Amino acid sequence: MARRFTGGRLVVATHNRGKLEEISALLEPFSVDVVSAGELGLEEPAETETTFVGNARIKAHFAAKASGLLALADDSGITVDALGGAPGVYTADWAETPQGRDFVMAMTRTWEALEAASAPYPRRAQFRCTLVLAWPDGHDEVFEGVMPGQVVWPMRGDQGHGYDPIFQPEGFDVTFGEMDRWEKNRISHRADAFRKLVAGCFA
Ligand code: IMP
Repeated sequence: MARRFTGGRLVVATHNRGKLEEISALLEPFSVDVVSAGELGLEEPAETETTFVGNARIKAHFAAKASGLLALADDSGITVDALGGAPGVYTADWAETPQGRDFVMAMTRTWEALEAASAPYPRRAQFRCTLVLAWPDGHDEVFEGVMPGQVVWPMRGDQGHGYDPIFQPEGFDVTFGEMDRWEKNRISHRADAFRKLVAGCFA
């Protein structure tokens, strides 16, 4: 049995605005008093693990310890089958430049790697999300979500964030970048992980 959320403030351990907005929207029905790591002035710990769960644990425990509050962290990314699961935990790193993150560059790199590998179509990929809820006493609960789909080119849509314009979820002919926020939040990898989190800790 998962440990349950018993009310009070919850810190969302992310400095990523897109993720914060999605997580806040998903938590809206549960009257949770949400505060972000950025608002509390918490540092961002280094993500030194090689798995989504390892990195989500680092972020959640760091925020719970630093704030004394229950903390929720998300580690997510896109895994592309023909690239052996890359970029995976390095999804954000593929966008890094000295001037900040450039996702057009990251998406171009992804497509060029698929072209270089002469990858067959459909170019299957998954968005993955691991959520870790950590208590200040060191306890945690882990939930994993996935959204299967394919990488498409050219980029389509200006909704969403990150790699959304090149990801077409299974069963749809639009990309995440073309979907409205409500629809994406209903079907996404983060929504899948959230349903499991809610069933385990909030319901
Ligand atoms: P991290 O979890 O902060 O290490 O970063 C994960 C990266 O995965 C983000 O910077 C995004 O680029 C990408 N990502 C995760 N979820 C989504 C999504 O829903 N849409 C688009 N990109 C995503």
